[in-house]
Amino acid sequence: MTTPVPPVASVNSLPADDQSILLAAQWLRQGRLVAFPTETVYGLGASCTDESALARLYALKGRPGDNPLIAHVATPGEVGLVACPTPRQAGMLADLGRRFWPGPLTMVLPRGPGMSPSATGGRDTVAVRCPAHPVARALLTAFGAPIAAPSANRSGHISPTSAAHVLADFANASELLVIDGGPSRVGVESTVVDLVADPPRLLRPGSVLPEQLVEALGEIDTTPMSAQGASPGTAARHYSPRTPALLLDLAGLRQALAERREPCAVVATSDLDVPRPHGRMSMPKDAEAYAARLYAVLREVDQAGFSAILIERPPSRVGLWSTILDRLERATTTA
Ligand code: AMP
Ligand code: MG
Repeated sequence: MTTPVPPVASVNSLPADDQSILLAAQWLRQGRLVAFPTETVYGLGASCTDESALARLYALKGRPGDNPLIAHVATPGEVGLVACPTPRQAGMLADLGRRFWPGPLTMVLPRGPGMSPSATGGRDTVAVRCPAHPVARALLTAFGAPIAAPSANRSGHISPTSAAHVLADFANASELLVIDGGPSRVGVESTVVDLVADPPRLLRPGSVLPEQLVEALGEIDTTPMSAQGASPGTAARHYSPRTPALLLDLAGLRQALAERREPCAVVATSDLDVPRPHGRMSMPKDAEAYAARLYAVLREVDQAGFSAILIERPPSRVGLWSTILDRLERATTTA
C-alpha cells in the first residue's frame, strides 16, 4: 500500500508517527528532501544515490559542494551498502559499532558504490553513522536504504535541535517535509573518527569522547584539524550565530558588561548580576544538560536583536565540556 502524497508547495511539519514516517520514506523515494530528528541534531535527508535530490540538498543548505554528507544506516549490517572497509577497518568498525551504535558516532571509511561521490564532495571516503533516535531509525527502516544527511540548517548557521529551528532556517523552501520528533537529546553534532587514517584520527569531537575511542582502539590521533584540513566541516568558523559572540572568563564578562552600553546577551553558568539593558540566559552546570540546551539558547539570543553575545567559558575542560568548548570556540571565532 502506498500513502497518498498531498500536493505541497512549501514546508510541511508533521508530528512523528507511523503515518508521517511512511510518507517521509515515500518522499525520499520520489527524490524529495526530508528533515528528521536524530539524538544529536536534526538532519536534512536525501537518498544517497539520487543525484538531483542531492543537488537540491546542497543548494537548499547553501553548502559548498566539497563539504561531504554523512550516510545514515538503519543497522550496522547496512554499512557495506555505502562503504568498502579493509579487514583492518572492518575490525575497528565492528568494535566501535558494538560499543557506540546505534548512537552519536560517525566513522569515515572508503566509499562504496551505494554513496554517490557528489554526496562526499568527490572524496573516495564516506562518513557513516547508525543513529539511535527511534524516529530516525524508523525512517531509515521504512525507506529501506541509507540516507545522506547533513545537519538541517543553512550552511554555517547553528545546527538545529528542534523542528522549529529547521523551519526557521528553511521557511521559504519548496517541498520540504519536516518530521517533528521533539528536542534532540544530545544537542551537539556526532563525534567523527577517520578509520582510513592509521592511527585513526579524531576529526570532530562529540559526545563519544576521545578517551572512549582510545579505550576501544588503543591509539588515536587527536591533533586539531587546521582550518581546511581533512574534514571541511571542521573549519574554525562554523556553527555560528550571526550576532558577534565573545567567549570570556567571569572577570572578563563582568568587565565587558560594565563597559558596554548597547544591550548584550549574557550566556553564563555562574550566578552573576546582569544589569539592564543587558539580558541573561542561565546555563546548566551539568555538561549533558548544557550541551542539550546550547544551540536553542544561541538561536534565541541571536534573533533577539542584541549587539553582542557574551558567553562565559565553561567551568571545565574535562569530558563533554571539551566538546562544548570546541563548539563555543567555533561560535565565537571571527576567522
Ligand atoms: P554535518 O552533518 O552538517 O555536521 O556535516 C557532516 C560532517 O561530517 C562534515 O562537515 C565533515 O566534517 C564530516 N565528514 C563527512 N564525510 C566525511 C569524509 N568523507 N571525510 C571526512 N569528514 C567527513
Ligand atoms: Mg552541519
